[in-house]
Amino acid sequence: MKKFICSLLAFSSAMALSACGVASSDNAEDNAQSSGQATEASTDAASGASEQEEYTDPSELENKYDVVIVGAGGAGMAAAIQAKEEGANPVILEKLPVAGGNTTKSSGGMNASETKFQEESDIEDSNDTFYDDTLEGGQETNDKKLLRYFVDHSADAIDWLDNMGITLNNISYSGGASVQRIHRPEDGAAVGGYLVDGLLRNVNENEIPIFVNTDVTNINEENGQVDGVEIDMDGDSQTIDAGAVAVTTGGYGANEEMIEENRPDLEGYVSTNSEGSTGDGIKMIEELGGQTVDMDQIQVHPTVIQKDGTLISETVRGEGAILVNQEGERFFNEMETRDKVSEAITDLPEEEAYLIFDDALADRAKQVDFYKEQGVVESGDSIEELAQEINISEDQLKETLDNWNEAVDKEDDQDFERETAMDYDLTTRPFYAIKIAPGIHHTMGGVKINTDTEVLDEDDQAISGLYAAGELTGGLHGNNRIGGNAVADIIIFGRQAGTQATKFAQENN
Ligand SMILES: Cc1cc2nc3c(=O)[nH]c(=O)nc-3n(C[C@H](O)[C@H](O)[C@H](O)COP(=O)(O)OP(=O)(O)OC[C@H]3O[C@@H](n4cnc5c(N)ncnc54)[C@H](O)[C@@H]3O)c2cc1C
Repeated sequence: MKKFICSLLAFSSAMALSACGVASSDNAEDNAQSSGQATEASTDAASGASEQEEYTDPSELENKYDVVIVGAGGAGMAAAIQAKEEGANPVILEKLPVAGGNTTKSSGGMNASETKFQEESDIEDSNDTFYDDTLEGGQETNDKKLLRYFVDHSADAIDWLDNMGITLNNISYSGGASVQRIHRPEDGAAVGGYLVDGLLRNVNENEIPIFVNTDVTNINEENGQVDGVEIDMDGDSQTIDAGAVAVTTGGYGANEEMIEENRPDLEGYVSTNSEGSTGDGIKMIEELGGQTVDMDQIQVHPTVIQKDGTLISETVRGEGAILVNQEGERFFNEMETRDKVSEAITDLPEEEAYLIFDDALADRAKQVDFYKEQGVVESGDSIEELAQEINISEDQLKETLDNWNEAVDKEDDQDFERETAMDYDLTTRPFYAIKIAPGIHHTMGGVKINTDTEVLDEDDQAISGLYAAGELTGGLHGNNRIGGNAVADIIIFGRQAGTQATKFAQENN
């Protein structure tokens, strides 16, 4: 297969993006941050992932495929690889110059229960506990059929990735999880760049065509059956016919208009999302009569840098960090679900807080290297020095850390009843602080699907030939997503979309 290569070299992402057709900017960090490639670059460096990505030359575009997959994030690439495994001839169409979407930005990891890696680490977990934790996190508003399918297929998704050379065997805690369940690359690096690199490598090895700069503008339907899409490729409009269409265009966390329409109270919030998260798939599916659910359920993440939307991964708290207010005091259980921690921060008079951690934690959570590169980490050789740096009372911060280390030692947090992520104290110099506040992070609502990933209309009937997976779908997370469940969602339901779309194409065309 003839290819052109967009080299995404670590530490030169802005140059690489401009070579791939993104307008160049004077500010390399802005470019990198808005597309998520900075995270990828630093992750590549940490995890040893490959340094180049390959896309299909536009001249090779055909006018018909068995399965057309719209969007090259994690769900889209998982769907494509699975469809190919099932014997289909799939294609992936991506509107941005690079694959990855929000998936590239994902930092914490992927939740899964009853995995071989949990067993190897003597972590006791069960699909039922995973189900219960997720239901509790979503305050019982989750779509229970989707949730059951999800937990029961999570270990298999970890194995499927591992068989493709994407090994997530380093397990930690995430907010709302009662046991260690969030799976990360071996070296503790951010999951996103490593996952996208691995999926893209497998897309390439399987010779699945993947076209970038290809905006899907409409989903076509004839006689009640979806049969292709309209695209705009470098300014040229074309029709691509399909045996089935799988839509994996992600959420709408970067679409201010849609955010305000569904949640006027979130106007002006900073967003952690990729610029491609504009809700296109949801809008196109609504035009076909597709049903949406939970559109007002938008997750705000508690730990976001306000100047540019950089997310500070939950891993930092999962590895033991605490949150303090401007008085230098803890004010909430840091491992509570995201909605509650966000609310606790917004309730502070200053509406912001500091994550506090030590050098041993920075070693365990490789993401911290990236945050240091971004210049958002304050440090001090002693707790007193750190307190001075961030203008907090030295005595109070010292007292807070002493109390916390005692709570870790006794495994008893009398102040806020935190029960998880208390395996390590915070005693290794230097000490660090990152100033954070809540930001828009994940759109939990979206199009309604069943466990076969068929898109449902207003009467709960499947729209023939149309499948959807990933952040553009709604229901799984209910009104609050547990950290680590979105990456699991895109692999589990992305694969299912690949399988079911292939089956439909084979049986109906
Ligand atoms: C900063 C950050 C950190 C996160 N960390 C975690 C984590 O640790 N664990 C976890 O579980 N979740 C995490 N999440 C959430 C998770 O990453 C996303 O929900 C998930 O990756 C979405 O995957 P997706 O495949 O559905 O969509 P995406 O990965 O967003 O991919 C969608 C793709 O479709 C493309 N597209 C959109 N419209 C069109 C169109 N019209 N035509 C063609 N292409 C189109 C987009 O450009 C994009 O490339 C994080 C999210 C963010 C933003």
